Amino acid sequence: CGFVAIVGRPNVGKSTLLNQLLGQKVSITSKKPQTTRHRILGIDTDDNYQTIYVDTPGLHIEEKRAINRLMNRAATSSLGDVAMVVFVVDGTHWTKDDEMVLGKLRGLKCPVVLAINKVDQIKDKEALLPHLEFLNSQMQFAHVLPISARKGDNVEKIREWARQWLPENEHFFP
Ligand code: GDP
Repeated sequence: CGFVAIVGRPNVGKSTLLNQLLGQKVSITSKKPQTTRHRILGIDTDDNYQTIYVDTPGLHIEEKRAINRLMNRAATSSLGDVAMVVFVVDGTHWTKDDEMVLGKLRGLKCPVVLAINKVDQIKDKEALLPHLEFLNSQMQFAHVLPISARKGDNVEKIREWARQWLPENEHFFP
């Protein structure tokens, strides 16, 4: 069966997004980066569809510590049977690590949605444009979507696309 993988560097709002998608608190969010220590599965069974979400551990770029190497491996191996990837970036805070995560997504066959999170806090939307242009030049996104995981803005779109790209779900709940 297919997974929806939520990927992005630490602290961009992956856990918050997962909580919104599932409509309940299943993972921990905090102000500290790298709180997502475990791969968390959530199943959304709304409206006769079943969508399985994978909250990948943060893709740690610097593999200095063994634990980071392990988490990196878990994050990338979970992309093997993925039906759709939600690549989350923090629209208020851009780093080179976003580009490193992007590098790991290139070559995937499944649709990748670029979710620009924390739009509720973006003051200067123009400042985002060069970053977006760069990302768009690096790979083809199925959709580019501004979201607020905290407020829930546009999160429903991600749920819709997940259903669209997981058609086999209909077999579970005919
Ligand atoms: P993760 O490490 O990628 O799983 O990130 P978290 O979900 O733990 O979120 C990191 C921080 O960003 C937390 O303090 C969240 O409350 C905050 N955050 C997440 N989404 C939003 C959003 O849409 N808007 C704002 N303003 N803050 C957010």
